[in-house]
Amino acid sequence: MAWLQDSWDRLMQRMTGGRLPHALLVTGEHGVGKRLFANALAGLLVCERPDMDGGSPCGSCKQCELVAAGTHPDIRIYTPEKSRMIRIDQIRALSSFAVGSPQVAARKVAIIDRADQLNINSANALLKTLEEPADDVTLVLLQESGRPVLPTIRSRCQSLLIGTPGREQAAQWLVAAVKDLDDDSRPTPEQCEKALGLAANAPRLAFEYVTGDFITVRDEALENFRRFMKGQLSVGEAARPFKAMGLESALWLFEGWAGDLARIAAGGQPRDGEAAEMLTFLANHNPAWRAHELLDAIHESRSAGVYNVNPELEAGRLLIAWQKLMPVRRQTAG
Ligand SMILES: [Zn+2]
Repeated sequence: MAWLQDSWDRLMQRMTGGRLPHALLVTGEHGVGKRLFANALAGLLVCERPDMDGGSPCGSCKQCELVAAGTHPDIRIYTPEKSRMIRIDQIRALSSFAVGSPQVAARKVAIIDRADQLNINSANALLKTLEEPADDVTLVLLQESGRPVLPTIRSRCQSLLIGTPGREQAAQWLVAAVKDLDDDSRPTPEQCEKALGLAANAPRLAFEYVTGDFITVRDEALENFRRFMKGQLSVGEAARPFKAMGLESALWLFEGWAGDLARIAAGGQPRDGEAAEMLTFLANHNPAWRAHELLDAIHESRSAGVYNVNPELEAGRLLIAWQKLMPVRRQTAG
């Protein structure tokens, strides 16, 4: 993954300079490959004979074998579960892992995917580990761009940004990645191109899109969105595909469209070509601040999502907020 190389090289420079932090905060867009990056770093950190100049693990020691099998006991990953939040008992487990002795390697690595999904209690519990880190543990925190991490957490980590590749580089990777798929499940170049557009060039996300049913559900969601705006569907019917894709993806879609609305209003190019016609119509009939109002409403839903809102109701709420942008048909006065 060539676009990860820059960030990797910067990190290797810090490490060879003896400045490996005990806690690293890796930030990047959704689906850009943060988790792969963290896994690679963990593999390097536990390897017995790493090639630090090349920035790669030896690939043959016992540690590397365990990493390859995905069963290394000194690498732990903490990720939000159904609640979409990292729970305090997960952080407690992390804390005892951090102070315990490594089982087979010289050091332990704890990955928090994602640090922007820690609630206040979990974050407070994590602070103690960040403030008094054991010498033999490295914490790798992953953060999605645009999703806040509490300043108390951020200030105790070294930051590293992973940039999003351009279209050409992302497409090169995606085409190579889908080559190994079976004939009947391999996406067409057109589908790859569409997925990259929807994923704003985040390659891992585009891969998820072309190998899952997201694009089908998303097409249905867009069609329902259009028909709802024209008053042809009830809000309940319109919200159905948004519910099917889950709150996170639904908010991601709405956010993309609201972002496009703001871009069009500012004279820029929309990212989602298929929604462009409708969004241009809305942009022509509304002041630019309406797009930002929508973005605010979406961010509100996202923070509410933390407390387990009903995805269908939330999608309905946002659809209604969008519908307010439709020009009112004037009734002839009686
Ligand atoms: Zn090794």
